[in-house]
Amino acid sequence: MLNNETPYDVLIVGGGPAGASAAIRTRQAGLSTLVVEKSTFPRFRIGESLLPAGNALLRELGVWEKVTRAGFIEKFGARFYLGAGDAEKKVDFSTGLIPGLESACQVDRARFDTLLLDHARELGAEVRQATTVRALRTEADTHSADLETQGNTVSVRARYVIDATGRDHFFPHALKADLAPAAFARRLAIYNHFTNVARDPGPAGGDTLIVRLPDGWFWLIPIDADHTSVGLVTTQAAFKAGRQSPAAHFAAVVARTPRLRRLLDGAEPSMDYHVTADYSYYRRRVAAGRYILAGDAGGFLDPIFSSGVYLALRSAKHAAALVIQAARQNRPFRAAECARHLRECRKPASVFHRLIEAFYDDDSFSVFMCPRPPWGLAPGITSIVAGHADLNFALWWRFRLFLLVCRLQRPLPLVPRLSLDPAPSP
Ligand SMILES: Cc1cc2nc3c(=O)[nH]c(=O)nc-3n(C[C@H](O)[C@H](O)[C@H](O)COP(=O)(O)OP(=O)(O)OC[C@H]3O[C@@H](n4cnc5c(N)ncnc54)[C@H](O)[C@@H]3O)c2cc1C
Repeated sequence: MLNNETPYDVLIVGGGPAGASAAIRTRQAGLSTLVVEKSTFPRFRIGESLLPAGNALLRELGVWEKVTRAGFIEKFGARFYLGAGDAEKKVDFSTGLIPGLESACQVDRARFDTLLLDHARELGAEVRQATTVRALRTEADTHSADLETQGNTVSVRARYVIDATGRDHFFPHALKADLAPAAFARRLAIYNHFTNVARDPGPAGGDTLIVRLPDGWFWLIPIDADHTSVGLVTTQAAFKAGRQSPAAHFAAVVARTPRLRRLLDGAEPSMDYHVTADYSYYRRRVAAGRYILAGDAGGFLDPIFSSGVYLALRSAKHAAALVIQAARQNRPFRAAECARHLRECRKPASVFHRLIEAFYDDDSFSVFMCPRPPWGLAPGITSIVAGHADLNFALWWRFRLFLLVCRLQRPLPLVPRLSLDPAPSP
């Protein structure tokens, strides 16, 4: 039963990983918490590959036991391939520099997100599903939100709002209009869940497979015994030039890429193709007054290194901590706290940002793919790929050196150059 009389301590808009994990934390601190979620869980979401660095956050939330009991596929690494050619690079998490980052889960997001949201509810969060926040007004020291459920609108009040609405928010807010593009080419993703995708036997069968193409890449992520998430990321320009439907474009790229033909031989799509366009952005501000952004709502990075859920859990942790602190004194966020939240969101994202730049740059990609990178760089890069974005000195100098070698690779090739030219059509 919604409480229209007394303001909630916190209204959390969006019940994805950011919203649910923020709700768990505000409930752990005893704040009255309302989570409003547009859809009804379990609901489909893309983004199935988690990072080892996220395991510690799941432990803090008290859901680790539930996650391990849920029987998700364990991933011990990732394999990177060229679409045309033999080059191959295995990232084995157990060889990283930082201990404790040996594995992570590949999750069916419908189940994973439900698990998190159910946990928030068990801790006492009130969860309204199939309900959309349509408008938010700031009044003195509370917010008033219009909640729409099946055409009916009611208003609730809350002292603080955590906006965890992901990439599509359905209500305007000044903070979200202030966008700083993440400086990557405009891309889009076309994806589906497939059956009949062959896997390696044993633990290697849980690896994420990434296939690099001249203007994009493919992912293959095993999500349960029968289903594999498969997606194509390409530039919007390449997609438009193809003048095909998403499904036909996807099939055409598979057909002209030898590695993909082998990997997807006999595979069957299990639903309609989804398309996500126009991604990668940063916000210039992520908190003001008593309103704070978490997860994709605060910024989104190209998913090549599977950083999304991890960054969402991290930013939600920080957002919840600021709300808990401010709520004790019933005050708005201080300017320094807002600036700190921006730094907390940006700092780990900037590490992944650099890796993403390297991935898309052909010369840097040759360095990344080098089977035996020089100067013992490999264990450091492996830990960063596992999500350890807080760089201690041992990681920092290796990362700087990796980026330097990438920069030098064009004028002064230090590792063999890979050719990304597409193979001739069969
Ligand atoms: C193509 C692609 C591939 C990806 N691959 C990976 C990957 O392999 N690994 C990884 O970690 N990440 C990946 N991601 C990113 C990942 O999906 C996101 O980073 C993650 O879902 C962010 O969680 P969130 O809680 O911020 O947002 P979401 O999971 O999007 O949740 C937001 C929720 O808010 C709800 N909502 C929105 N507006 C309202 C409203 N007005 N009222 C009520 N509810 C509302 C939505 O219904 C939704 O449930 C990928 C993303 C894309 C696009």
